Amino acid sequence: MTERNTRGSIVFAGSFDEEFISSVDQPVRRVYSLFDAIGELATCCSSDLVDAIVVDENLLQEQSSNHIDALRRVDPTAIIIVSGSGARVKHADGSIPKDSTAAKLSSEISSVKSKPECEDPYYELDLDEVLGISDGIKIVKESSHLGVIDLVRALIHAPASFKDVLIDLLKQQTGWSFCAIIDDRASAPEDASVASLRYGHEEHGLLVAIGSTDSELTRLSRWAACWLDLAHRQQKLKLLAYKDDLSGAWNRRFLRTCFSRELQIARDERRPLTIMIFDIDNFKHYNDCWGHDAGDEIIREIVRLLRTIIRRGDHVCRIGGDEFAVLFCDPEPPREPGSNHPTDVKILAKRFQEQVANARFPKLGEEATGVLSISGGLATFPWDSSDLDELLKKADQRLFQSKRDGKNSINIGNKG
Ligand code: GH3
Ligand code: MG
Repeated sequence: MTERNTRGSIVFAGSFDEEFISSVDQPVRRVYSLFDAIGELATCCSSDLVDAIVVDENLLQEQSSNHIDALRRVDPTAIIIVSGSGARVKHADGSIPKDSTAAKLSSEISSVKSKPECEDPYYELDLDEVLGISDGIKIVKESSHLGVIDLVRALIHAPASFKDVLIDLLKQQTGWSFCAIIDDRASAPEDASVASLRYGHEEHGLLVAIGSTDSELTRLSRWAACWLDLAHRQQKLKLLAYKDDLSGAWNRRFLRTCFSRELQIARDERRPLTIMIFDIDNFKHYNDCWGHDAGDEIIREIVRLLRTIIRRGDHVCRIGGDEFAVLFCDPEPPREPGSNHPTDVKILAKRFQEQVANARFPKLGEEATGVLSISGGLATFPWDSSDLDELLKKADQRLFQSKRDGKNSINIGNKG
C-alpha cells in the first residue's frame, strides 16, 4: 500500500538556509521573487502539484496581504506559510520562524489542513429528500460513457448520489479494478494505493484505488477533491438558505417547504400531522433587563431544549424574533420497548412548556432562573384543516388565545 500524506512539492520563495531546504522530505522548488513564485504555481503540471508555498517575510514587506492574495488566486489549494520573525501575516495560513526545522515546517503545514468543521447535525442529512425538492431526474448509474456532464447533473438533481457517480466515472476512465472514497486509512484494502482528497484546507476523505500508479492517483485525487469541494459548498449554501443563523434551527422557508411535503405524505398515508407554534412570553422585558446578548442566548437555549424533547423526524423552526414552530412529523412508535418516549404530540408540547418554565438560563443571572415561559397553539391535520395556510392560521390563533388567557400555556384546541 502506498502512503501519501502530501500531494506534491513545496515552493520556497526568497532566501532560505540550504541545509534546511535539503532536509525537507518532499520535492522542493526554489524561487527568489514573488513573481517567480506566482509563475511556479501557475505553470506546475498536474502530476507535480504544489502542496505549500513558503514565503520569506522579506519578500512581502508592505501590503503583504495583497501579495498573499495574489498567490492564493493563482492556486487556492496551496497552503501559504510565511517564514520570518514569527509575526502572523494576515491571510497566510501559517508561519514558521526563520531558523525553523523541516519537522516544524511539516507540522505547520499539516496543522493548517482542515479539521472537521463544527459538528453540524444537518450536514449528513439529505436536505432535498427532507424538503421533497429533488426533481426526480434519474441519474443512470454505470452508464457506459460517463463524463463531467454527469457529475454536474448529479450535483444539481441528485446530490445524494454524487459520490457514486464520481466513483463510477473514475473507474470507467481509468480501468482501475477497485476505487472508493473512505474516511479511515485502516479500512483501505491491503493492496490499494491511497491518496488524500484535499482541496485547500478542506479534507474530503481518502481516494483508494487498485490498479493505479502513484502519479495517476495523485493527479486524479486532486481532480476529484475539486469536485467534492464543489458538492460540499453547494450543500452548505443550500443549508444556509433554510437555516436560522442565530439558533441553528430551520427557518420559515424550511417550514413552508417541509410542511407542504409532510402534509402530502400525511394525506397519502392517512395519518395526522401536527404543528405547534409558540412565542416566548414577555421577551422584550428580558432584552431590556439583561441585554440583547442574553436575549440571543435564550433563543439558542430554547432551541437546544426543544431538540432534547422532540423525536427524530420532528423539526424545529424559528419563524420570527421570538416565535418558533415545531412540525411533529415522526410517525414512529417508541423504538425501545418500555421507553416512555411519548408518541402523543400534546404530551410533548406540554412537557416542553414545563421544561421551559423550570429551565435555568444562566445568562439571566441566578435571581432570574425559572422565570421564562412560552405560550403556544397546536393545529392538527386533518381535524383542524387540510390546508397548509389554514393550519398555520389555526395554530397562530390558538397561540394568541393562550396569550389572552394569561400566557404560559399551550392551547391544543378542542379536537384531535
Ligand atoms: P408577548 O409576551 O406578548 O410575546 O410579548 P414579548 O415581550 O415577547 O414581545 P413580542 O413577542 O411581541 O416581540 C418579540 C420581541 O423579541 C421583540 C424584540 O425585542 C425581540 N427580538 C426579536 N428578535 C430578536 C433577536 O434576534 N434577538 C433578541 N435578543 N431579541 C429579539
Ligand atoms: Mg413574545
